[in-house]
Amino acid sequence: MEDGNSTLQLFSFDPLAKLLRQAAPRKAADLDAILSRLQPICELDRQSDRILFQARPSPCTIRIGIECTRRLQAHTYAAGIFFSTPECLEMGIEECRKLYAPADHLLNWAVSRELQQSLKHGGMDDSLDDLLAGLGKELPVDILSSLNDTQRLFGYCLFRFAIAFILLHELAHQEYRHTFCEGYWSIQQENDSDRFAADWLLEGASRSTKALQSNRCYIPVGIAVCPLVADNLQYLLGASSDQDASRRIQPAISDPGTHSRRGRPAEIVDGLGNSCKAATFPHGYR
Ligand SMILES: [Zn+2]
Repeated sequence: MEDGNSTLQLFSFDPLAKLLRQAAPRKAADLDAILSRLQPICELDRQSDRILFQARPSPCTIRIGIECTRRLQAHTYAAGIFFSTPECLEMGIEECRKLYAPADHLLNWAVSRELQQSLKHGGMDDSLDDLLAGLGKELPVDILSSLNDTQRLFGYCLFRFAIAFILLHELAHQEYRHTFCEGYWSIQQENDSDRFAADWLLEGASRSTKALQSNRCYIPVGIAVCPLVADNLQYLLGASSDQDASRRIQPAISDPGTHSRRGRPAEIVDGLGNSCKAATFPHGYR
């Protein structure tokens, strides 16, 4: 359904509800309840480059930017490559390079597009190829199929939980009837929505099967990628943030006494931060 603007299209929320059901099977009844209360619809923005995940009331509409979702996918699959091959530390440099090569492609593609936004923000309209020949090239269509099975599985799981976290965060804004505000209260609203989404995913991963147990490892990392990607862009834009990624992730995935259940957030943040910010972008972007 068109929205009067050809770049915006309305869609049923059903495919996203299915994703949420798969991500948190033990929360199926809660999901049905929240969906029946909010009756959300999905609005896709095919044009905007900025980070675009928003919720609006009346009717409850979750707007999702396709371009930022593609970048999130690139970041999560790159993180999946790093996390799936910890033994790389013991390998030779050439073997290691070969294993990490797809992560190079993915991160260079995603980070260069984030860099382009920061340049636009500063009034520079250079194309990516003006910055460096070849940078404007799209990712190879077979980039994901070129990954080995373990890399692809890690990437897929991280991407699925990252998207689920974002959707639940947006639904939480509506469930809590948050309204626009700034400063301290805005940060509180974001923290509350992060906490809602993180708790939902962590409670929803059943301990009843091995496969679902392993989700408990993917979930904190998938969650952690989201604010890190946003933080990366803020960093490139030169904006100071009241709420950098580590500050935002900590309350969402940790609380006293639950570290062993939820993993070690500081290490997750450090590891992922390094993987995002030390991307092998030519000549460095910092
Ligand atoms: Zn929010």
